Amino acid sequence: MTLHGKTALVTGSTSGIGLGIAERLAASGAQVLLNGFGDIEAARERVSKHGVKVLHHGADLSKPDEIADMQSYAERELGGVDILVNNAGIQHVAPVIEFPVERWDAVIALNLTAVFHTSRLALPGMLERNWGRIINIASAHGLVASAGKSAYVAAKHGVVGLTKATALETATTGVTCNAICPGWVLTPLVQKQIDKLAEPHGDLERAKRELLAEKHPSVEFVTPEQLGELALFLCSDAAVQVRGAAWSIDGGWTAR
Ligand code: NAD
Repeated sequence: MTLHGKTALVTGSTSGIGLGIAERLAASGAQVLLNGFGDIEAARERVSKHGVKVLHHGADLSKPDEIADMQSYAERELGGVDILVNNAGIQHVAPVIEFPVERWDAVIALNLTAVFHTSRLALPGMLERNWGRIINIASAHGLVASAGKSAYVAAKHGVVGLTKATALETATTGVTCNAICPGWVLTPLVQKQIDKLAEPHGDLERAKRELLAEKHPSVEFVTPEQLGELALFLCSDAAVQVRGAAWSIDGGWTAR
């Protein structure tokens, strides 16, 4: 399939899953607006090797006015947003009674509230053109919980709910909204959790195996490339009746 003539905004696309999805959409011909922190030039280089226009906006998505500025930039420089991939996310692990209030607010602001803001701002243009795809990167934690991850689990369950409501509001249009619910993907976000697991014995490979064995019946990581392919499918005409789904890609985690 071709995404020539379409513009994708992928939030948190300077690393991990977002970068994998941005690259796949670019390889199919979409021009891409990257967002996120860190090594921006490396991300831009990787995505632009597919010969499409690639820009970056450094909005901190926990700030609604910066999100609005990013949407205006997309309209001005790229003609709007046809494909919105809400991917940026952070994690904080602590029991509820010890959870720092400031970390709770940060996780909810980025992992949930930002999805509302980017969606409400991108939707008018999509509806006007009667074509659009909103793909929310939720998590297996949008469907089931784990101890120590209250803010993340609450935000991701919220994203799945927001996805359903948005899908219903757009159900008779050419705009679809779906969530992808990955299991473990070996990105910097998960590497931090592996490092912590390895602290008692110092063996990173053993910590990786422990992490997978606990949740993934397949005992293998999901890859950013596999997520890119799934996102691409959700952009296709074949997926036009996939609406409000929370699509698991988790090595069997939530099948148990
Ligand atoms: P990552 O840490 O590799 O990347 C996160 C991205 O978000 C980076 O580009 C970072 O710069 C950006 N970001 C962070 N704070 C930001 C902010 N305030 N404003 C704008 N951008 C910001 O993480 P990842 O593992 O690729 O995760 C991506 C998404 O996938 C997240 O929503 C995460 O919850 C979800 N997810 C990850 C896994 C996993 O196992 N890695 C599993 C399920 C779901």
